Amino acid sequence: MMEIRNVVIIGSGPAGYTAALYAARANLHPLLITGLNQGGQLTQSSCVENWPGAVDFPSGLDLMDSLKAHVEKFSVETVMADVSSIKKDGDEFDVICGSESIRTKTVIVATGSSARYLGISGESRFIGSGISACATCDGFFYRRKRVAVIGGGNTAVTDALYLSNLAAETHLIHRRDAFRCEKILTDKLMKVVGEGKIILHLDSVPVEFAGEESLNGVKISNVRTGSEEFVAVDGVFEAIGHTPNTGFLGDLVELEHGYIKTGVDENFSTSTSVPGIFAAGDVADSKYQQAIVAAGRGCMAALDVEHFLTV
Ligand code: NAP
Repeated sequence: MMEIRNVVIIGSGPAGYTAALYAARANLHPLLITGLNQGGQLTQSSCVENWPGAVDFPSGLDLMDSLKAHVEKFSVETVMADVSSIKKDGDEFDVICGSESIRTKTVIVATGSSARYLGISGESRFIGSGISACATCDGFFYRRKRVAVIGGGNTAVTDALYLSNLAAETHLIHRRDAFRCEKILTDKLMKVVGEGKIILHLDSVPVEFAGEESLNGVKISNVRTGSEEFVAVDGVFEAIGHTPNTGFLGDLVELEHGYIKTGVDENFSTSTSVPGIFAAGDVADSKYQQAIVAAGRGCMAALDVEHFLTV
């Protein structure tokens, strides 16, 4: 007879791991499908300063390794794979993973979001060899070289600060003259700019990446004056935000501005438009997008599933 799971959790960022932890402790015997990028986006952070209690500021990779170890302590069953689709069949679901189909009563979608790229001329040639969206992963390759970071949010400013300790020259290119990042980061940035370790290009947008065999620079345009400038660099780090990972859902659940709409059933804050499918973390959060919020929502999703299965 076909096994029917209580809950399948998809994603292994802070939301997925926390949901797994709570579901395991509620004796729901969850199956956690981690995705191929186990640990999610946070694994790309060089240093996490705002996870309560983690006063030694661990790397994102170390933090996610400790969340993984935590769920292993509760014997959570884990599959490292990407889910290709979910099919609804009556009150149950088939979660499709390659050639495997897993039957379950409920699903928690915690698939997070992925880095966005600019889509400008020359970009596709250099993605992976000159252009990256992960300073922690690829910054090392640009030791004592020239780099540029694009964006003005937490990621861009954190990346620029990190790279300024590695690279010979660090440029930060931002389309406005005010930063979106936390105040503490703006203060750190301005201090490092004052020391000449980061060169700011404000009100500027990249219009073209240039190079022959390898990237040699980025042409930027000033949005106020229209003047163009060539910034000679060996590497570019794009930090212009993220897109929620919902593609595998097709049109199964309702989205809102690209994010999964939650709270559809007023009894369950993490409910989606489909009873039995719940969502937590950045895939359903257009506003906060913080690891600790994702963890909290993961906890709520597991509690919602527990109550949903008993009513
Ligand atoms: P973000 O906050 O959305 O910032 C994206 C930046 O890229 C913005 O400055 C935006 O400019 C710029 N941008 C967007 N599209 C662009 C385009 N087409 N051309 C040029 N510039 C463009 O993204 P994020 O920094 O990755 O952060 C995502 C979320 O994660 C946020 O909620 C953030 O707080 C969180 N996060 C937190 C930490 C932490 O330690 N607390 C670390 C990393 C990320 P505008 O400012 O003009 O819109």
